[in-house]
Amino acid sequence: MKALVFEKYGGPEVLEWKDVPDPSPGANDVVVQVKATAVNYNDIWGRRGAPQEVPLPHISGSDASGVITQIGSDVTNVKIGDEVVVHCGRPARGNREGQQYNIWGYDWPELDGAHGEYVKVPSENVLPKPSNVNFEEAASLPLVLVTAWRKLVHKAHIKPGDTVLVWGAAGGLGVMAIQIAKMFRATVIAVASSDEKLELCKKIGADHVINRSTQDVRKEVRNIVGRKGIDIVFEHPGQATMGLSVQMAKWGGMVVTSGATSGYEGQIDLRHIFFREVQLVGSTLGTIFHLQEALDAVEAGHIKAVIHSVLPMKDGGEGQRIVEDDEAVGKVVLVP
Ligand code: NDP
Repeated sequence: MKALVFEKYGGPEVLEWKDVPDPSPGANDVVVQVKATAVNYNDIWGRRGAPQEVPLPHISGSDASGVITQIGSDVTNVKIGDEVVVHCGRPARGNREGQQYNIWGYDWPELDGAHGEYVKVPSENVLPKPSNVNFEEAASLPLVLVTAWRKLVHKAHIKPGDTVLVWGAAGGLGVMAIQIAKMFRATVIAVASSDEKLELCKKIGADHVINRSTQDVRKEVRNIVGRKGIDIVFEHPGQATMGLSVQMAKWGGMVVTSGATSGYEGQIDLRHIFFREVQLVGSTLGTIFHLQEALDAVEAGHIKAVIHSVLPMKDGGEGQRIVEDDEAVGKVVLVP
């Protein structure tokens, strides 16, 4: 089979579309013929070898949709021919706070990632593909969907009437966050860096939009919510935005964060944390049960896939460049 492999760290040019051995399942594994996969930021962290080195040679990829072609001798939950999506966390079923995950395609050394024609994953990591999305749409969902769902539903306990500010609102996490927040009848303020991105945000439900390249985010937020502040700030850019996120949260509000795209050393005026009792909450991924809840919302039509482009898998380097250069409006999907 062919896969997108890198043997040294670097830019997108280190990725090669080449022959690798076919996977064969262990007793509790399945092999999935990948119909589509997606580009995620951890593909980029892995390829850069920073902030954390990944084993070389390496096949990235944390999202896949496809059809099961082989099952291990002890597998009972799925059968050959099933159409599935893959949850990227080990353990898939761990369900306690502070769960440490290995992420498929990034720091799960026993498994190659999703950027190949076939993949081997534990059978407990697959779920049925929602019937109302095609393979490309399905592949764009799992990682960002489960992360955004857990942040808003299980960490922030979103409820009708909340005001949610979504940074990077046209990015992978952002487009999920907007739709989840609207499903819970919250008011959404979407922040992005271009009018084109904000058009998309409005189309998928954002009530207010702020162009962070041309507008003063803090001032615009004040115009929208007055002095009350934001109930839930959906954080992930990190260093560039964290200080402001904490300032914009209401008294007792929450900043829920899962990333640091712009850097790790966010500066916070701690008085907002203790004096105004703003809660700063971390979140990573979510269990397969959280993913199933979110996929049920997809099946019910509340959440739709948002795809920037579909590229051949061999051109995954270009897909990563689009994400890295902050050009994507929604997800970049790769097909073999
Ligand atoms: P995308 O690249 O799809 O979107 C990121 C968005 O961040 C962009 O659309 C961009 O929006 C915004 N952004 C980038 N730089 C800045 C900045 N300096 N200030 C404000 N906004 C900025 O990535 P994802 O949504 O998939 O992931 C976002 C981050 O979350 C990544 O760091 C990723 O590694 C992390 N992540 C963590 C997970 C976890 O479980 N912990 C799971 C998934 C993702 P614009 O420029 O338009 O404002």
